[in-house]
Amino acid sequence: MTVLRKNLIDGEWLGEAGSRNINPSNTNDVVGEYASAGPEEAKQAIAAAKAAFPGWSRSGPLARHAVLKKTSDEIMARKDDIGRSLAREEGKTLAEGVGETIRAAQIFDFFAGETLRLSGEMVPSVRPGVGVEMTREGVGVVGIITPWNFPIAIPAWKIAPALAYGNTIVFKPAELVPESAWTIVDILHRAGLPKGVLNLVMGKGSVVGQAMLDSPDVNAISFTGSVGTGKRVAAASVEHMRKFQLEMGGKNPLVVLDDADLAVAVDCAVNGAYFSTGQRCTASSRLIVTAGIHDRFVDAMKERLDKLVIGDALDAKTQIGPVVDQTQLKQDEDYIAIGRQEGAELAFGGERLERETPGFYLRPALFTGATNAMRISREEIFGPVANVIRVKDYDEALTVANDTPFGLTSGICTTSLKHATHFKRNSEAGMVMVNLPTAGVDFHVPFGGRKGSSYGPREQGRYAVEFYTTVKTAYTFAG
Ligand code: NAD
Repeated sequence: MTVLRKNLIDGEWLGEAGSRNINPSNTNDVVGEYASAGPEEAKQAIAAAKAAFPGWSRSGPLARHAVLKKTSDEIMARKDDIGRSLAREEGKTLAEGVGETIRAAQIFDFFAGETLRLSGEMVPSVRPGVGVEMTREGVGVVGIITPWNFPIAIPAWKIAPALAYGNTIVFKPAELVPESAWTIVDILHRAGLPKGVLNLVMGKGSVVGQAMLDSPDVNAISFTGSVGTGKRVAAASVEHMRKFQLEMGGKNPLVVLDDADLAVAVDCAVNGAYFSTGQRCTASSRLIVTAGIHDRFVDAMKERLDKLVIGDALDAKTQIGPVVDQTQLKQDEDYIAIGRQEGAELAFGGERLERETPGFYLRPALFTGATNAMRISREEIFGPVANVIRVKDYDEALTVANDTPFGLTSGICTTSLKHATHFKRNSEAGMVMVNLPTAGVDFHVPFGGRKGSSYGPREQGRYAVEFYTTVKTAYTFAG
């Protein structure tokens, strides 16, 4: 029997059954039932967060440290169960689900520490006898809107700093992954947050999300999701003169040079393009390969892809789980058809797979003979589909890598210090990897991109303070 998970508004669990989430590895398996908030609930949640802000923003570091540390400890203690539940609702593998859960625990631990390290500056004024202090204060009510592909890590990397710096929150998770969102809120609530400090409003983006965008009482919005929704967040936020931060799509390049270690390059490409079923904003979907290593690289990729175990996310042997849902599967298949029409060669995979249970299984697809002008090279597919683009040398590789509307992450596989150093300096991306997959892994360093991928201050690590606080300059004349 499934339990009804409710929304948390002003410290109370409220709501009626509204939606179910389905296991993409087995569509007969209903993970749970969830209350679906409407505009009224969104308004109540915003009002509760507004009322709770004065108290929480003055609560001091010890109270905030206690809640965040307790939350980290419980997530870590329950990492296997939470990771399994995440894999069940999203379709990433068990190892990835548990890994993401551990990362969430580490993020809460990191920001528990940050509550004790918030600092300011004091300088002498140009006027004798006057002191000037610069301090940071919470922004107010923060709206947090998250996507489905990292159901626990992304909420964690927004909620933890928002609370650490004294903000109150209205959190709207993606419709496909309410269980992970509910779990993290339940843990924080039981860890002792005062009522109204954290409110959960599960429901449709066009209803609950939109109500958050339209409210003058939401002082800041941190959004991760698609470019289209990001632009709506931006337009509405400018209208209300509120702070906003956007993390959106990617079309990330991985450059493989003639002098690369072939095994390292194939590891980076397989991990970067296909792990998490390619459903990562940091996925390396453009593999830009120089002519001297091209054929060896493609042969080695096909050999590796053929060995990948694609199946039920909850089976410990699975290396690639299903696509998240029918809509995303259709999008992946449509782009595979577009790639063929554009003249790229489907060198491997791309077909639907049958498994013991009904699910959205797709064999990872590799295109060769792609050009950077093709739609499959310019638009984010968000599935297990990657293109090999052949180039003559490093200079052309760098030009192609930067020729994209996005700029989240990039990578290069090379044994040349000169090229690695030049690429780190000249790649137009927020994160650059040398001989590593394009994913941004470390939880204590900034995460974010440039161009069409991101807007506003960086997330994660100490850089998160920029978004979640506002600076006050105070002058004192003591007489
Ligand atoms: P999406 O834009 O469809 O949805 C994101 C969130 O916005 C969801 O919670 C959704 O309900 C909400 N939303 C939808 N319409 C809204 C509206 N009118 N007002 C307010 N909120 C609304 O994105 P998605 O399909 O959930 O996620 C996939 C996208 O996220 C991909 O483009 C991916 O690259 C991106 N992503 C980016 C990062 C990053 O850090 N750059 C990380 C993960 C995912």
